[in-house]
Amino acid sequence: MFLLKRCAVQLPALLLFSLGVCLANAQKAPIEITADLTDAPRKLFHAEIDIPVSAGAVTLISPEWIPGHHMPSGPAGGITGVVFTANGKPLEWRRDDVNLYEFHLTIPAGVTTLHAHLDSIVTRRVSQRLAALEWEALMLYPAHVPVKDIPIQPSVKVPAGWGIGTALKPVSGGSYPVPPAGAVTKFAATNVEQLEDSPILTGLYFHEYPLAPSISPKHFLDVAADAPEDANMRPAVLAEVANLVREADALYASHHYNEYHFLLTLSDVAGGMGLEHGQSSDNGVGEKGFADDVHQLPESDLLSHEFTHSWNGKYRRPVGLYQPDFATPMQGALLWVYEGMTQYWGDVLAARSGLKNADEYKDGLAMVAAELDYTRGREWRPTVDTAVAASILRGGNRAWENWRRSQDYYFEGELLWLDADTLIRKMSDNKKSLNDFAKLFLGKGGNTGPLIVTYTFDELVQDLNQVVSYDWAKFLHDRVDRINPRADVAGLEQGGYKLVYRDKPSKSERMIQAAEGRRGGGVNCWYSIGLSVGADGTIGDVLWNGPADKAGLAPGEKIMAVNDKVYSGDALREAIREAKDSSKQIRVIVQADSFVSTMQIDYHDGERYPALERVDGTAGYLDDIIKPLTTPEKAPEQKKDDAE
Ligand SMILES: [Zn+2]
Repeated sequence: MFLLKRCAVQLPALLLFSLGVCLANAQKAPIEITADLTDAPRKLFHAEIDIPVSAGAVTLISPEWIPGHHMPSGPAGGITGVVFTANGKPLEWRRDDVNLYEFHLTIPAGVTTLHAHLDSIVTRRVSQRLAALEWEALMLYPAHVPVKDIPIQPSVKVPAGWGIGTALKPVSGGSYPVPPAGAVTKFAATNVEQLEDSPILTGLYFHEYPLAPSISPKHFLDVAADAPEDANMRPAVLAEVANLVREADALYASHHYNEYHFLLTLSDVAGGMGLEHGQSSDNGVGEKGFADDVHQLPESDLLSHEFTHSWNGKYRRPVGLYQPDFATPMQGALLWVYEGMTQYWGDVLAARSGLKNADEYKDGLAMVAAELDYTRGREWRPTVDTAVAASILRGGNRAWENWRRSQDYYFEGELLWLDADTLIRKMSDNKKSLNDFAKLFLGKGGNTGPLIVTYTFDELVQDLNQVVSYDWAKFLHDRVDRINPRADVAGLEQGGYKLVYRDKPSKSERMIQAAEGRRGGGVNCWYSIGLSVGADGTIGDVLWNGPADKAGLAPGEKIMAVNDKVYSGDALREAIREAKDSSKQIRVIVQADSFVSTMQIDYHDGERYPALERVDGTAGYLDDIIKPLTTPEKAPEQKKDDAE
């Protein structure tokens, strides 16, 4: 275990030669940065930055490897309008020829402060009524210096009447959470590493809800929405999120933040986000994402997942995923812990908190297990390679994704940690569980402020052995590093259930389809003819070596007709039912680029949808796992001094 305390720095020798170190050592005063978000509705942020300097060559840099993104996604390409001045006079700059995130300047004699103005073109997390600022969009700081050693004092200006939610601490003179029009809200000085980890949410329709007042330190749900009614969270949801705080407190038995803020947007244009931070999380769902149980189900583990990351990912971080700057490439080999165990606990905590119910939890596990079992790429690619290659598997075209594999370390990790949990319960006659491991591994060191403590594979194995003695190294290597053509369903079976396929979708699958309907949800015939099809007939992916693949269909093609009927989801499902137990083939007319052809799908087993079935006479550990550890509290009162 390697402790990376902010006060104890050991610099690699080669960095001592860099000019940046001289800059940092000389730098007593913090960088001052003011983010101006008043143009957020026009998709622009602005920044004024004062950087302490001394005469000579200076290299400034903006972040490239953003923690939690697992890829080099720094927003340097969107930074525009950069003007450097010293004592009021413009200074020339030149971008580095190799590292495009670096700016080189020469500071004239007598200058102690370099001023930088920049604009940032923002394409995500902004709407006409709200914005989320991740500070990397605006930051410039000395290159080749550990970012935790660079002091910085942030301020923000938001549109008139918009509230502010953040884990940053406002200093006296600032108003919070709704500052007066035109005011600059100043926050306490921190360092570049922490500021990058401390986003700001702002919005016109803004509410800050205190959560679970009996738990220390304080927790808040900060909500900004595009419509005023959506910012009024349902009391049931507030009670469930408060339960989440109390359940995480009981499970992890520690905190690694001074105060925690769930930042949540409800917007159809700014949504689709979940990014972890140590003292907050940046969460985005659709306008109606928490309006009713149907819309809530696909989002039910979002807050619990990102909250878990405060412990697993932020506090405890795989050694390769921590780098002292945001320029050195991160190494993702242990993402099946960072993300995979977070996926496991995120779902378990959602069920323990009531954000989803027990049936929804089990239906979700069935969908995860089935999807992984039908991922044909596992015949050539081990799970560890989906983690190592995470940065080239994010985003992009989904064609043939089941043959390529995707970021499977999330859900592979969920099944793996379920396997471990149920195995520990089985070996200890249900006296020990993965709860004990979570407390040991994620709560090590007790309560701390924001802190990063790295770990290795060996420490995982040691801590698992402290819970129950077993060959955990082999257990993990077998599941992660080896080719496993079938998914790890041992956790389901040890938990008292088995994965089965039924001719109708589970209630949860129908709810998710309904929730996603307005986003163009399609038909799930993945486990029958091996196709994922959008509402308009466009093929998302084709199961490698499945019936549709054998018929010659390909991703991106569009099904125009099924058995002489114009394409619709219902027509396709009807054709699958008609072909069941008969010799009749399913005939589709398909458009590929500018050509049309007819294809025959030879499949006769009817519709198939995954579900979990209880195995009588076995221990029901799966049901034990989702039992709450605490007793629910009454929903918190809404604050009175909020914006609209
Ligand atoms: Zn995550």
